[in-house]
Amino acid sequence: MGREMIDTLVVGAGQAGVAMSEHLGRAGVPHLVLERARIAERWRSERWDSLVANGPAWHDRFPGLEFEGFGPDEFVPKDKVAEYFEAYAKKFDAPIRCGVEVKKVTRREGGPGFIVETSDGVIEANRVVSATGPFQKPVIPPVAPRDAGLYQIHSAGYHNPEQLPDGAVLVVGAGSSGVQIADELNRAGRKVYLSVGAHDRPPRAYRGRDFVWWLGVLGLWDLEAMAPGTEHVTIAVSGAYGGKTIDFRELAHQGITLVGLTEAFGNGKAHFANTLNDNIRRGDENLMGLLDAADAWVMRNGADLPEEPAARRVLADPDCMKNPVLELDLAAAGVTAIIWATGYATDFSWLPSGALDAKGKPRHQRGVSAEPGVYFVGLPWLSRRGSTFIWGVWHDARHVADHIATQRKYLEYRKG
Ligand SMILES: Cc1cc2nc3c(=O)[nH]c(=O)nc-3n(C[C@H](O)[C@H](O)[C@H](O)COP(=O)(O)OP(=O)(O)OC[C@H]3O[C@@H](n4cnc5c(N)ncnc54)[C@H](O)[C@@H]3O)c2cc1C
Repeated sequence: MGREMIDTLVVGAGQAGVAMSEHLGRAGVPHLVLERARIAERWRSERWDSLVANGPAWHDRFPGLEFEGFGPDEFVPKDKVAEYFEAYAKKFDAPIRCGVEVKKVTRREGGPGFIVETSDGVIEANRVVSATGPFQKPVIPPVAPRDAGLYQIHSAGYHNPEQLPDGAVLVVGAGSSGVQIADELNRAGRKVYLSVGAHDRPPRAYRGRDFVWWLGVLGLWDLEAMAPGTEHVTIAVSGAYGGKTIDFRELAHQGITLVGLTEAFGNGKAHFANTLNDNIRRGDENLMGLLDAADAWVMRNGADLPEEPAARRVLADPDCMKNPVLELDLAAAGVTAIIWATGYATDFSWLPSGALDAKGKPRHQRGVSAEPGVYFVGLPWLSRRGSTFIWGVWHDARHVADHIATQRKYLEYRKG
C-alpha cells in the first residue's frame, strides 16, 4: 500500500484548524486536519472548570454560526465553546482526523512538498499549515521555589479550588487567568495573595456597550503591531459572574492581598518588587484612556449612548497598596500552594528549520512562512491584535487559504 498523500495538511483542530478547514474547503483545496487529541482540546482540558469566554456570545464566535441556547450578551462556558467548534466542523463536514499527532515535517528531497511523520504513519503533503495554538507550553519562571514543600501548578493545570491543599494560595500573574483564578479562590473562602504586574484593564462595558465593541469601533482590534515596550503587559478582563470590570482595589477590599512582581524565594520567604502601586496606577490610566477614547468617539459620531460617570470612580487605596508587602513568610502566612498564571511558550521544532528564526519563532508574513509551503494560523499578532481570538483567526485563515488557492492556480497553469 502506498503512502497517504494530501494537498494541504493542517496540524491542530482548535478554532484555528477548524477555520482553516472551512476556508480551504470553500477554495476547493483538498486537505486533511490532524488533531492529536479532540477538536478544541485546549478549551476542554487545559482550562479551569468555571471559565467562560472573555467576550460575549455575539462577538466571540465565527460568522457562520451562533451559540445555541445563549443570549447575545451572555458569556459562554468553556465546554460549550468546545462543543461549538465541534458543531461548526460538523456543519461543513470538515475532514478532521482526531487522535493523530504530527511528530515531524521535513522537506521532500528532489520534489515538492513535505514528508510528515505522524503517530499513525507517514503522510505526504504539498503544503503544511500549523494551527497548533498561540499558547502551547505552560511557562513557570525560574524563580519558582524548588523544594519548598508547596503545591505548585500552572494556571493550565488549575481546575477548581477543591484541587488545592487547604491553606492560603499565592497566585502569580494577574492577567485574565490569574485574576479570575484569584477571585474564584477568594470567593471559595481561601486567603489569596495575588502578584500583580503590568496590565491593561479595559472596562467590561461603558455607556451600554461591551469593551469588545469599543475595541472594534475604535479600530483597536485591528492594530497591526504591538506598541513597543508592551510585550509583558497582560490584559485583565473577565466574563465571570455575568461580566465585571476588573478592579484590583475592589478585589483587595474583598480580601485579596495584592503584591508586586514576584522576584525571588529564599529561606521560606517570597520576595516581591515594590511595583504594585505603579502597576495599579498604570492600569487605571489604561482604563481611563479607553473611556476618554470612547467619549471622543461618541462626540464625533453624535451617538446616543448614555453618559456613565460612575465608570471613572476610583475606590480608596486598600491597605496592601498603602503598606506594600515586599516579603512574605510563606509558612507564617499559611501558604500551601502557588498557582503560576505566567503565560505560555510555543514549540515549532517539528517544522522545517527554514520556517523558524534563530530563536525558534515562526518566520512569516501574515501566516505565509519564509519556508515555501509552510503556513501558520492562530499566532499572536499574525496580522493584527485580534489574531489569536476566535473571530480574528477566522479572517486570518481566509487570507492563508487564499494564498494557498492562488499558489495552486500557478501550478495548474504549468500542468496545462
Ligand atoms: C485561559 C484562556 C482563555 C481564553 N479565552 C478566550 C476567549 O474568551 N475568547 C477568545 O476569542 N479567545 C480566548 N482565548 C485565546 C484563544 O482563543 C485560545 O487560546 C484558543 O484556544 C486558540 O485556538 P487555536 O486553535 O489557535 O489553538 P489551540 O486551541 O491551542 O488548538 C491547537 C490544537 O492543536 C493540537 N495540536 C498541537 N500540536 C499538535 C500536533 N503536533 N499534532 C496534532 N495536533 C496538535 C492541540 O491538541 C490543539 O487542539 C483564551 C486563551 C486562554 C489561554
